Amino acid sequence: MKRNDYISWDQYFMGIAMLSAERSKDPNTQVGACIVGPDNRILSVGYNGMPQGCEDDDMPWGRDGAALESKYMFVCHAELNAILNYRGSRNFKDARLYVTLFPCNECAKAIIQSGIKEIIYGSDKYHGTDSTLASKRMFDLTGIKYRRFESDGTTINLNL
Ligand SMILES: [Zn+2]
Repeated sequence: MKRNDYISWDQYFMGIAMLSAERSKDPNTQVGACIVGPDNRILSVGYNGMPQGCEDDDMPWGRDGAALESKYMFVCHAELNAILNYRGSRNFKDARLYVTLFPCNECAKAIIQSGIKEIIYGSDKYHGTDSTLASKRMFDLTGIKYRRFESDGTTINLNL
């Protein structure tokens, strides 16, 4: 008899997005993303962080002050990292994106252009903001589906 308490595909891929977020150096917001092909094979993962070559210790991580003294000008979001860091030979046609936070409008553009067709997100804490409204408008116009990941309360402790 096979075991029955194994995790679902959605739990597996969202779990990987969550684990990826743990790599983020951002003191305020940790986001992870996992891109999965229609055959349920993982294509790429990412988390929010500074661009390659911009050393974490040399960059600002704050949210306040002058634009050039805050993180916003510099941090590359998890979804964009997952898209840009892919080194395989397949494309993202009909792929799914698991992401722990609903994509901003800048990532939404990249998601659309990449061919991803469905987004499964965790938090939607910026719902109602112009950025999120713009994302949803673009997703609706381009037929990209999005749905919230619904936890069933399953918890897994990892001894790392
Ligand atoms: Zn973004």
